Amino acid sequence: MRTATVVVGAGQGGLAMSRCLTDRSIDHVLLERGEVAGSWRSQRWDSLRLLTPNWQCRLPGKVYDGDDADGFMTCAEVADFIASYAVEIAAPVQIGTTVTSVSRSNGGYHVATDQGEWDCDTVVLAGGAFNKPHVPPLAEGVPASIRQVTPLAYRNPDDLPDGGVLVVGASATGVQLAHEIQLSGRPVTLSVGEHVRGPRLYRGQDIHWWMDVAGVLDERYDEVDDIVRARRVPSMQIAGTEQRSDFDLNALTSIGVRIVGRLAAMRDGVALFSWSLRNKCELADLKLGRLLTTIDEWATASDLDGTVPPAHRFEPTAVPDPPLLMLDLNRGEIASIVWASGFRPDYSWLDVDVVDAKGMVRHDGGVVTESPGMYLIGTPFLRRRKSSFIDGACDDAQDLIGALAAYLDGTAADRHNVLPPAPGEVPTPRRGETPAAEAASFGD
Ligand SMILES: Cc1cc2nc3c(=O)[nH]c(=O)nc-3n(C[C@H](O)[C@H](O)[C@H](O)COP(=O)(O)OP(=O)(O)OC[C@H]3O[C@@H](n4cnc5c(N)ncnc54)[C@H](O)[C@@H]3O)c2cc1C
Repeated sequence: MRTATVVVGAGQGGLAMSRCLTDRSIDHVLLERGEVAGSWRSQRWDSLRLLTPNWQCRLPGKVYDGDDADGFMTCAEVADFIASYAVEIAAPVQIGTTVTSVSRSNGGYHVATDQGEWDCDTVVLAGGAFNKPHVPPLAEGVPASIRQVTPLAYRNPDDLPDGGVLVVGASATGVQLAHEIQLSGRPVTLSVGEHVRGPRLYRGQDIHWWMDVAGVLDERYDEVDDIVRARRVPSMQIAGTEQRSDFDLNALTSIGVRIVGRLAAMRDGVALFSWSLRNKCELADLKLGRLLTTIDEWATASDLDGTVPPAHRFEPTAVPDPPLLMLDLNRGEIASIVWASGFRPDYSWLDVDVVDAKGMVRHDGGVVTESPGMYLIGTPFLRRRKSSFIDGACDDAQDLIGALAAYLDGTAADRHNVLPPAPGEVPTPRRGETPAAEAASFGD
């Protein structure tokens, strides 16, 4: 079979691209091994809710229009939201089709699947950035008596045996799991490396609202000093709950979670933690302060200071003194380990030499320049700070379609540049027209 564009994966990234391809009348197919938005049904734990507010669920031509714009959808609700989008845009999805190989062929691509073969001019890699858990090699030294689980397999605390739990990693996933496991009666030790501290609310508004209106989430990949590093920055320690509770280290310590440094080594079943916990926490406090300063400056420049509560700062992170540096896993205190140590994409099916030693596709803002006609969507900071969020897929797809269409047209246009929307292309509705319009709603 032949088409202009094959999109691998029908999550929000693939679907956002599909909508933009349709707007440009570009013939395409989405090949999906499971079901539409399946990762939200099969790869998330039971209690997970979005950490982004519902109003931030924006896809090309669609916004959240339910009655809880400031709430946080459950995973089932997110999956339904995305699946209904696929129907609304009549996305040409072929489900139950696993792509087993993508290779270059006749100036385009040959895509092999377990349901047949496709040839195409362009290919979009939308298979997801978080489909494989990253477990450090030192896990091999964990005593066999200890149950080890990853967030992709974990569903709820009952998956774990009674007894202590070591959660490794303190980004959004690690802090959320540490919280619910501690509350289940299993004492948690949380191993903390580099992390990003965030409050749920600041000056009366959600932190994501502030980051959205102040342009923090829109910061572009070609504006930051060190994009390699920016793409590795962990997710912020927040969660979406009805109470809008904080999930930072102080909040976890207050419910009894013990915090320790980064898991640095495993020797004869003894876990050794880095002594740099205090430094890591001070750095996270410092960076939070910088973010809040950016927000405060934006609020002042937008004449908001009279309408929102005053600027303030949060208590520094309380660090145990001295911190625990060793934990003998042979002693029975720890019954299980949860590896919340990050996720990786899976490109095992990609037979084009564009994957680096860390397993990430080399690209320039989603354009895989080493393999003309290949595009990527959904990875951290692909084009913007928000690229791995639902909202990011929206804006990134609207950018990338320009490059892809120009490539198909064979034009000499700069393929990294964003082309104007095609005639009839529906611009994405925004929550407020401009930051100033958003600001006006404060006074209500
Ligand atoms: C724990 C967690 C919480 C998150 N919370 C939020 C949040 O609150 N807000 C937010 O905006 N974002 C959140 N994200 C980030 C992001 O929105 C999700 O990861 C989202 O699922 C990414 O969408 P995607 O389309 O890029 O990838 P996916 O949803 O993973 O979709 C990719 C699709 O490709 C398919 N696929 C992969 N390989 C193949 C193949 N070889 N052949 C055929 N099909 C294939 C998969 O089956 C999958 O359906 C979270 C992510 C994680 C991991």
